[in-house]
Amino acid sequence: MSENDSAANFEGGCLCGAIRYRFDGPLMAVAQCCCRDCQKATGTGHTTIIAIRDHQLQVEGSPRTFTVAGESGHDVTRHFCGTCGSRLYTGGGLLPDVVMVQSGTLDDPNSISPQSVIYTRDAVSWDRFDPALPRFETMPPLPV
Ligand SMILES: [Zn+2]
Ligand SMILES: [Zn+2]
Repeated sequence: MSENDSAANFEGGCLCGAIRYRFDGPLMAVAQCCCRDCQKATGTGHTTIIAIRDHQLQVEGSPRTFTVAGESGHDVTRHFCGTCGSRLYTGGGLLPDVVMVQSGTLDDPNSISPQSVIYTRDAVSWDRFDPALPRFETMPPLPV
């Protein structure tokens, strides 16, 4: 966790600016997620997510939501801007008090660094990852 400063403040928002958010550390995890749902939701090979407790996240504006049953059978809800479509964060699933923030929406995306690659079983052949990062076929256990 050394590169992800537990005392840092993080701010971000959607492309059009209608939705803004902020959260403080500590960060539970920062991961490159290659799952099919992330690929579909973002239109990319993988998305870089920051796991925090839901009480750490403060949101201004009203994101739209889309809920599907995740792999665990629990509902997973994606929050995004209804105007510009930026995907902002995801909640629900096995850990209902955890949210996954999309790191590309941070005002300073370089303020975090990924620690793992998850759902590698869904990774596409043309995507590339830091070979030094640990890889997991699906979801590794989060620190709780
Ligand atoms: Zn927007
Ligand atoms: Zn995913």
